[in-house]
Amino acid sequence: MSEINSTKLLKGIMADYFKSFFPSEGEKPKVAWCTSVGPSEILTAFGYQVYYPENHGAMLGATRTSNECIPQATSLGYSPDICSYLTSDIGSHLLGKTPLTRAYGIPHPPRPDVLVYSTNQCHEVQEWFSYYGREFNVPVLGIHPPWKAGPMTTLQLAHVKDQYLELIKNLETLNKTSFDYDRFHQVLGNSATTSKLWREFLNKMVNRPSPATFFDSCIQMGPAVVLRGLPEANDYYRQLNQEMDQKITAGEGALEKERIRLFWDGMPVWGKLRYFSELFKENASAVVASTYCNSWVFDFDLDDPLLSMARAYTGIFINRSEEVKEKVLAGLIDEYQIDGVIYHDSKTCPHNSNNRFGLPQRLQQETKVPYLVVDGDLNDLRCFSQEQTTTSLEAFVEQLSE
Ligand code: SF4
Repeated sequence: MSEINSTKLLKGIMADYFKSFFPSEGEKPKVAWCTSVGPSEILTAFGYQVYYPENHGAMLGATRTSNECIPQATSLGYSPDICSYLTSDIGSHLLGKTPLTRAYGIPHPPRPDVLVYSTNQCHEVQEWFSYYGREFNVPVLGIHPPWKAGPMTTLQLAHVKDQYLELIKNLETLNKTSFDYDRFHQVLGNSATTSKLWREFLNKMVNRPSPATFFDSCIQMGPAVVLRGLPEANDYYRQLNQEMDQKITAGEGALEKERIRLFWDGMPVWGKLRYFSELFKENASAVVASTYCNSWVFDFDLDDPLLSMARAYTGIFINRSEEVKEKVLAGLIDEYQIDGVIYHDSKTCPHNSNNRFGLPQRLQQETKVPYLVVDGDLNDLRCFSQEQTTTSLEAFVEQLSE
């Protein structure tokens, strides 16, 4: 990973976020668990502190704690073939072990008062959150947007907006209070700014040499996921973008030598971020763009907050038709001057593995940009062969160089 000085500040911000669930004095905050691209702004406006189990899943993967957690969930009947964020997270709960303890001195994830999911990304989150609903005996509320949307129709978006209104009604009953639309407007405004700044950061990688890579973005995206809607994320990204601008002006790239520019499609292999980063560096190849990190770029229209939330969260890349995905990828390949595309076929996340319905072949025909499929998984390293991956990636880069 590259030297990014702002990362020191990032560590402090993330620590403050996690520690704020366990204040040393005063009242414990109301906690809502939310899926990573769920309607968190509604929850923040209700005064909940929002916690994201997927973020915990990624930490379990990055620290390789998943290896001992997944079998725990499997023994409870959760198949090793389903989402390994889910099995890692439930396993971690069963084991009573979390990387939050080592990183932030926190004994366990904060206990939820309510669980809110959206199936815009996949349906596994419904089962994941239902497990905790039973475990903690708290309400589980869900949003079910249309699946694999092509062009989004007015009717589809109105249906999602209605579901938000229903969610608000249920939360009003739970909280015995009325929804504060002014506060919501303010929170969504913060989220819109976070999104804009995060997009600006990703766009810096259009430059040659690129000042950062996908592997840096996987670390830098923390606030865009867990702090969106709050001003802290925005202050951080302003500073980060300034640092990126300085690097661009100085002609300082993330790699000493950038010969090849690559695109990463699909989930990261969390337990192997450093391995991939080093391997690409050794081969003078910069991974400069990804669909994954772009997943937290939203366009919110503050004139019609709920409808624009419906549009933004239904329209996320993972939830689009193959035709829409193809168009988005072709646009990014062109914009970032990509020489080759890596598709990560993540064994336990078919929803975010885009190599399964002929898309790589169609896209290569259209753009003339070659591709490689890498087998692996987001968290379950039993599905990943380092030796095989090294051989095929090196051969691919060599082919691109020729
Ligand atoms: S999208 Fe993939 S990684 Fe995310 S929760 Fe669903 S199955 Fe798991």
